[in-house]
Amino acid sequence: MTDYWNPELETLPWSKVERWQAARVAEMLAALRRRSRLYARLHAGVPEGFVVRAAADLAALPFTLKDDLRAAQEAASDAEPFGKNQAVAQADIVQAISSSGTTGRPLYYALTARDVEVFSDAIANVWYTAGIRKGDIVAHLVGLPMVAGGLPYADGFRRIGATLCWLGGFPTERILREMRHLRVTTLLATTSFALHLAEKWDEVGRETGIASRLQKVLGGGEPGLAQPELRRRIVEGLALGHVRETMGLGDVIPSMWGECEAQDGMHFNAQRYVMLELVDPDSGETLPWRAGATGEIVYTTFAREATPVVRYRSRDHAEVVAMKCACGRTSPRIRCIGRTDDMLIYKGMNVFPTAIRDLVVERFAGRIEPLLRLWKARREQVRFDDAIEVDVEASAVIDHAARAALAREIEEVVRAQLQVRVAATVLDRGGLPRGVYKNSIVAVREG
Ligand SMILES: [Zn+2]
Repeated sequence: MTDYWNPELETLPWSKVERWQAARVAEMLAALRRRSRLYARLHAGVPEGFVVRAAADLAALPFTLKDDLRAAQEAASDAEPFGKNQAVAQADIVQAISSSGTTGRPLYYALTARDVEVFSDAIANVWYTAGIRKGDIVAHLVGLPMVAGGLPYADGFRRIGATLCWLGGFPTERILREMRHLRVTTLLATTSFALHLAEKWDEVGRETGIASRLQKVLGGGEPGLAQPELRRRIVEGLALGHVRETMGLGDVIPSMWGECEAQDGMHFNAQRYVMLELVDPDSGETLPWRAGATGEIVYTTFAREATPVVRYRSRDHAEVVAMKCACGRTSPRIRCIGRTDDMLIYKGMNVFPTAIRDLVVERFAGRIEPLLRLWKARREQVRFDDAIEVDVEASAVIDHAARAALAREIEEVVRAQLQVRVAATVLDRGGLPRGVYKNSIVAVREG
């Protein structure tokens, strides 16, 4: 029997959830233009008396883009340190969260005391869906408190009543040893860092002489756990079966999606605070939620006081896995297929680096490690007319002499399956970085 963090909303038919949310969005919108100078401008053309009554009515409102938030932040002043989207008085703000932007100054989001409550409850809902309970001892491995995965994630664990062990920021060896000594049952890490720990878990276990108590892994901060080979390596390395992917966005709520016991796509768990849309990324048209649909996820916060967003383009592209689940939850279940920010154009054709990684890792399982890095010449490079440089790591069974042939084989498979030309290099095992926070598959060639 499944139990839920929020039994009523998690099991209400999705159309009824949307109707309930629409009423809250309408209430929020009524005051928004007065509260936020950003929305006074963005919604200037929205007719007086416009009311959201159903999810479909949102389509009449303009989108909010990351650039809108950036411009709003750049207009910060002494009275509004968070810029034109600061919708409360400075004195009511209790915390700032930073986005992990790859270029320029990060974006900062403000939280009131009520916002902190909303974050904690929504994130706890995700952790609960992902099987975390009171009594679990959690190693939280994100090192920076100010980022979306820092303090907000920690608050979510404490809200559940789990034992928080904030080991993020320590050297890997110390993390591994202390996880044994503290009898950690649950690990929250990026996918690539979880893989890194899995590779060293046994060795450290022998040194400490303490048996592993680890039972559960939560992946967050980067996509990849949906990739079966990666998941298998974590399961085998850490000797456990409970591996759940989670996803969120600092601009909205840092964790909103999490896998249930089906471990097959992430449920939306922030229905109490955020309204969802799926849109065609090119035309911006709203798409119906149904199994197999793909599109960009768009969020409207209706409970965020300090820095609200309406129809915010997440740049996360998702595939709807199902609209039903054996666990009884009614929210859509999705898999993230890539981010607009990462999308590349090879000879006029769009391709997600994750598509290249998933294909290669799956096809060459056993011969390479389940990681891949793709190189660009400059940060702003999106277009490729020449072969895209790709690095992979040889597995232990591949000797040096066989690597060149393996690289040619990888190039051939990618060309045949994706119509993209890559130039593959097979590195030593351990040759690719495994970072603790937000690893990109794409890297920039220095110099
Ligand atoms: Zn489920």
